[in-house]
Amino acid sequence: MDIRNLDYNELENYLVRIKEPTFRTKQLFSWLHARQITDLGEAHNVGKKLLQNLAADGYNLENPEVKQRFVSKDGTEKYLMALSDGALIESVLMRYRGDYSKQRNTLCVSSQVGCAMGCVFCATGHQGFERNLTTEEILAEIYTANGIVKANEQNQEIRNIVFMGMGEPFNNFDNVMKAIRILCHPFGMNLSPRRITISTCGVVPKLIEFADLDTDVGLAISLHASNNRDRDALMPVNHAYPLESLIEACEYYEKKTKKRISFEYALIENVNDQKKHVDELKSLLKNLDCHINVIPVNTVSHNKTLLRPDRQHIHRFIEMLRAAGIGASVRQEKGADINGACGQLKTDYSQAH
Ligand code: SAH
Ligand code: SF4
Repeated sequence: MDIRNLDYNELENYLVRIKEPTFRTKQLFSWLHARQITDLGEAHNVGKKLLQNLAADGYNLENPEVKQRFVSKDGTEKYLMALSDGALIESVLMRYRGDYSKQRNTLCVSSQVGCAMGCVFCATGHQGFERNLTTEEILAEIYTANGIVKANEQNQEIRNIVFMGMGEPFNNFDNVMKAIRILCHPFGMNLSPRRITISTCGVVPKLIEFADLDTDVGLAISLHASNNRDRDALMPVNHAYPLESLIEACEYYEKKTKKRISFEYALIENVNDQKKHVDELKSLLKNLDCHINVIPVNTVSHNKTLLRPDRQHIHRFIEMLRAAGIGASVRQEKGADINGACGQLKTDYSQAH
């Protein structure tokens, strides 16, 4: 069993139970979550007895195996990782070069193997649902990617996380939230919750639970349509939680947390890219202080009819949104030459092996 399943308090309780001195908790926790060792034996100053006890209690570290690594011309990297049972997930490292001496490295993390939500434009959705990632698998995914970043470039590390990889994070709520707590622990990676974003297709009851937690973790909603008829056709989740209930939950979130939501909108030619859609969005979002990220859709191999509008039209759509008083921008395209949206890499890999 991977010991990274234990949060700080649980680790402390365990160490007390096996009669270790209390300072060991901080020591071991930092080895695991700050230095991110890949083998317990690397924690050389915690004492032989503790290492023996850990082994006797069946504790270890189970790291994913990086099966493939792609590096894009723009610096984006994509990793295909096999979990200990062979299940495959993808993570994407995005680099944003700003004015800072350090560039911002953001990891797009998978929370599930596959996804049950079946959005028609999504390669992961097409694979169906296999299983949830455990807390420790989510952490090991992040630490493995961070290890690659640190090994390749001095002074670089991952400080931003988005749950926009494979899977629906709100369908794996407890493990995702526990992983976030550990990532933000001061003796661990010490990430700021503000630098973590969860993206959801709109699982309303979990969205409300998330709002009630009132954390500083960011929220992105995959909207993709401006009316129920279109959204029903693109995202089956809309049958269970139609737009009225989703927007009501978003308004509740905003009131509760005082945070701005960002909406993702995959722009699809002749499906959701017309003036009437902008008008519908304007009335739908009228009570929200939000921002729309327009993502030119990545055409997936299982559905070639969903096409990306041309550049000019994307630009026009953004202008129409802004004219309607909605903050909007195009999601910078990252790693277009290394296999588009999440899920596509695994699809290709699975078909070839
Ligand atoms: N399940 C969550 C998070 C993972 S998907 C969610 O749906 O929000 C991350 C983002 O990529 C979502 O906004 C999703 O709708 C979008 N996406 C999936 N497939 C896409 C595609 N082919 N083109 C553009 N965006 C896509
Ligand atoms: Fe699942 Fe998100 Fe893909 Fe929809 S877009 S199928 S919720 S991963």
